Amino acid sequence: MPINYLPNDPLAQAFAPLREINPAPDRPGNRAGFTFSGAANQGLHPIGTSEFLFWQCREAALRSVGAWEALDGRLNRWFGNRRNLRLRQDVGEDLNAFYDRASLSFFHRTTGSKTTFSGASTDVVAHEAGHAFLDAIRPQLFDVSLTETGAFHEAFGDIVAILVALLDQQIRETLLEVTSDLRQANFVEATAEDLSDGVRLAIGPNHPAAKPRRALNVFQWQNPLLLPTSAPPDDLSSEIHSFARVVSGCIYDTLSNIFNSRPARNQCALLEAAQVTGRLLIEAARAAPLETRFFRSIGRAMIHADTDQNGGANHLAIRDAFAAHNITLGSAAMLAPTSILAGAAPALTGKAKKLKVAKEMTPDLAKRMGLSGAARFTFRALRLAGETITEAVHDHATKLDKIHSRLKGVIAMAPTSVLIGSVGQRASILGGLPDLHGTEDEVTQFVATLLENDCIKFDKTQAFVSETTQRLRTHEIKKVGARKVLTRLAFDCFPNCAGRSTS
Ligand SMILES: [Zn+2]
Repeated sequence: MPINYLPNDPLAQAFAPLREINPAPDRPGNRAGFTFSGAANQGLHPIGTSEFLFWQCREAALRSVGAWEALDGRLNRWFGNRRNLRLRQDVGEDLNAFYDRASLSFFHRTTGSKTTFSGASTDVVAHEAGHAFLDAIRPQLFDVSLTETGAFHEAFGDIVAILVALLDQQIRETLLEVTSDLRQANFVEATAEDLSDGVRLAIGPNHPAAKPRRALNVFQWQNPLLLPTSAPPDDLSSEIHSFARVVSGCIYDTLSNIFNSRPARNQCALLEAAQVTGRLLIEAARAAPLETRFFRSIGRAMIHADTDQNGGANHLAIRDAFAAHNITLGSAAMLAPTSILAGAAPALTGKAKKLKVAKEMTPDLAKRMGLSGAARFTFRALRLAGETITEAVHDHATKLDKIHSRLKGVIAMAPTSVLIGSVGQRASILGGLPDLHGTEDEVTQFVATLLENDCIKFDKTQAFVSETTQRLRTHEIKKVGARKVLTRLAFDCFPNCAGRSTS
């Protein structure tokens, strides 16, 4: 029996109208899937009903996983070896949505005659699924107290929403009628139109989330330390959803550069461009070293992935896209040998290709980075431009005492990494060493932005949603051994911070 399905967003129906479709089958039991609740009878239910919402949200989630598997192959498990995430199409009143490693959760809110259901937007569902995909392939990015890493997580969600749209032939055909070169504002690069409209109605037009986020933009990268912690929707701030638009702009421009370099600009070429871009982004998300300048790290890793996957055919498309947002990649510099380290070069040994690292390397790295001899590193092998490189990661603690009295004795963690290659038989640093003071400055800014937006849950009595700002509290203070550590609980969809509103 068919169901009603909105393939993009409730406010994009002029371009992607309601469809009658047969719902996707449940996921096979041996692959990553969802557990549903509040199931409704299958049928053609009107938009706005709980029955419609159930089937809509289910279909959007299943199609998102389908799009992901079309790009990256089978997805067998979510983060933490979990087989199923809970899909909760309506958990209460708010203008938001979140991913918290156990669920994709959505809300509703009524303003005047309009009720906004975040789970009714395929954009929003795909965005949350995007957080979950990224967490499955690169869990180290979930809880990094740095602006660019958090912003990349948000951008990844938006790009997944765009890719889900572009893997649909009808949407590609309509999109090319709207803009034959992808360079005019359009319903695909704009995400969550309906939810942002709900925010505009409820809180006012100057709220940071009162307009859709657009991947076709001209935002220029600048150091987030120099940005305000909140800003109206057309301006850039260090809040991660706002800052995300810089890197989603780079990825969208990569897509349009690749598309526009094709001899025929038709829906087949657009599908190909979306697949190529999606696969480069996913590979980069796996490999990109954990640097403070994570956007640049992603761009460089995309160029190296392109060398691997496409013989470097899209090098200029990527380089120019990032340059258009003030990010100079210099991808070769990343792998240039600089200083020789103590010990032999790391190597993959035995049948299992286990990474072997000389024991004298750790104290030498610690000394060079100005850390105590007891500093610990984790090592992983990664592939960049067809080479096996070793990444040494030190999880660096920044003390938060000076930021706020409630953060006395609390630390926040951010990874700092060094790339290691070989020169002859010897280990060599590639690129350079991280600047720990710079990292601490950026962690401080990240936490200040959380505080400004009331996103930290200081104790158990506080609710998940802030009473004063209506924002989700995405972080809490956790005891880890003897230490108190700022820890991420969830990624939400929208910065729902009040205090800057006009009504
Ligand atoms: Zn998000």
